[in-house]
Amino acid sequence: MLDRFAYTTLPARILFGPGIAAHLAGEIETLGCRRLLLVSTPGQRDKAQAIAEPLESRIASHFAHATMHTPVEVTEAALAEFRDVDADGVLAYGGGTAVGLAKAIALHTGCRQAIVATTYAGSEVTPVLGQTAAGMKTTVRDPRLLPDLVLYDPDLTLDLPLPTSITSGFNAIAHAVEALYAPDRNPVSSLMALEGARAMVEALPRIAADPLHLPARTNALYAAWLCGTVLGAVGMSLHHKLCHTLGGSFGLPHAEVHTVILPHALAYNTPAAVAELAPLAQALGDDPARALHRLARDLGAPTSLAALGMAESDIDRAATLATQNTYPNPRPVERGPIRDLLARAWQGEQPA
Ligand code: NAD
Repeated sequence: MLDRFAYTTLPARILFGPGIAAHLAGEIETLGCRRLLLVSTPGQRDKAQAIAEPLESRIASHFAHATMHTPVEVTEAALAEFRDVDADGVLAYGGGTAVGLAKAIALHTGCRQAIVATTYAGSEVTPVLGQTAAGMKTTVRDPRLLPDLVLYDPDLTLDLPLPTSITSGFNAIAHAVEALYAPDRNPVSSLMALEGARAMVEALPRIAADPLHLPARTNALYAAWLCGTVLGAVGMSLHHKLCHTLGGSFGLPHAEVHTVILPHALAYNTPAAVAELAPLAQALGDDPARALHRLARDLGAPTSLAALGMAESDIDRAATLATQNTYPNPRPVERGPIRDLLARAWQGEQPA
């Protein structure tokens, strides 16, 4: 029987499909921005410039120093540039790192945001920003953070390196898994989460077999959109808290941490969310936590925190930080079992 729910759709324009990036200039015109600050990571500098070329004089400047986990000092430098060049909008090219910087600029200036998304992290469709200051990652949720325009062009993901493709795909699946047991879920978010997880789990092995397979890349980007959208629609739980702790306080790479932690966080919560997670078994197999661990291993993705460079001696501090200011979660978040979870994840063991 359906329970009560609230359902709010977020006002963003999404354009999807191979070659869709060719519509960028016309879409920016409709958005009404005259002077854009283009933002990207240093590695995507040239590709960002190439994509923005048709915008010509509308690009006021290019800030190519976006940094993972959105450190506030990088945001301050980008804001200074935004004001210096009298920009009225921001255009991000890249994954969650470039998107995070665009959002942080929009939060401070109220400017409009256009995104050309090139990974599967899903940040471009959420009104959420994770940023780091003094070694702590905190999360802000604010309607000003939601990008106004998102272009998903699978052609631009063909060169996303395979390891990043796989871990970024796991990041998306993690959004879907947590959406299934989110306290504020609704029937639409659950449908999108299941379809997103199913499509990503199907696409990743095909991408691993042939990274230039456009239909597989297209399905992965479709899944990323669905999974990101549900992350934007409902709250996060234990899995995201663990990843924010490990990324923000221990400097571990975002998508890789999601890949390692997801099977363990899912196993932790499964006994407390049996009905909510039951449909996931149809998409992932009888034991979704173990199936995800196996999938990561088979696709050559990291399965241990040790492999990501975390010191074993940091497990205790991580357990303490992750059990402070916890996010709502189906199973009580207790330090002992969380320490055990982290120890298993550090070793690369199967989920409990
Ligand atoms: P990323 O944006 O850091 O990209 C990973 C690497 O791949 C970078 O070096 C980038 O330059 C490169 N890259 C990106 N696209 C490429 C392409 N098409 N071809 C070749 N190289 C490419 O990785 P990510 O996982 O997308 O983003 C991680 C960040 O996003 C973290 O800071 C995380 O906190 C944030 N995030 C936020 C949300 C949210 O809703 N707020 C959701 C997910 C992730």
